[in-house]
Amino acid sequence: RVRPLIAGNWKMNGTAAELPELKRIADGVDGTRSSSPYDALICVPATLIDRAIKTVVGSPLAIGGQDCHGAESGAHTGDVSAAMLADAGATHVIVGHSERRADHGETDIDVMDKTLAAHAQGLTAIVCVGETRQEREDGQAMDVVDTQLAGSLPKDAAPGNTVVAYEPVWAIGTGLTPSLLDIEAMHDHMRQRLRERFGPAGARFRLLYGGSVKPANAGEIFGISSVDGALVGGASLKSDDFLAICATV
Ligand code: 13P
Repeated sequence: RVRPLIAGNWKMNGTAAELPELKRIADGVDGTRSSSPYDALICVPATLIDRAIKTVVGSPLAIGGQDCHGAESGAHTGDVSAAMLADAGATHVIVGHSERRADHGETDIDVMDKTLAAHAQGLTAIVCVGETRQEREDGQAMDVVDTQLAGSLPKDAAPGNTVVAYEPVWAIGTGLTPSLLDIEAMHDHMRQRLRERFGPAGARFRLLYGGSVKPANAGEIFGISSVDGALVGGASLKSDDFLAICATV
């Protein structure tokens, strides 16, 4: 089985005041390292990456960004490049989160460019896909995810530089989750598609589930064999919750 990754996404939350909370996560992850073989990551706002790296130094907790521009550099006011994230110490970056697809009109082509930009800087890209409530109700969930996967993953995607996160839009921040059978069906489906496209390597990509993951449901979600970890939003802001999620791996 692929080594699990428990990733937190702090979204637009986090200033210096939250660094002690990050430190508690780093210390807790360290304490359970030998008994819980998983990788842990927190994706903080870009403004916090440098201080986050200094805060978690010596711990196995990795620090990532939440978005990068598809271009290497240039006239893109307000944007952050993959090189800037890597320079600040990030090792991972989330791309194509549904909030960015919705708030900033990001398309699959944009997400592919961002993924390529991340790879060019040695960052692991966490590529997010997932259907809306309407798409699920219409029976389109798998088709939507197929299209997003095909359009967002570049040819050079490999298990060492790319993680896929399945985040149904309707499950994000709502307390709702798909049934365990629906999560399993989607993850098995994505695994099959990755095998078709990338051959045997397709079996080794990490497939994360995201959307209202909490200490109370993490264990049963990680019990699904095609789930290789989680992308955790709200519950990653509290060290107790995040560490409790990690402890269920
Ligand atoms: P919640 O865990 O708050 O539902 O957010 C999930 C998410 O969007 C992670 O990227």
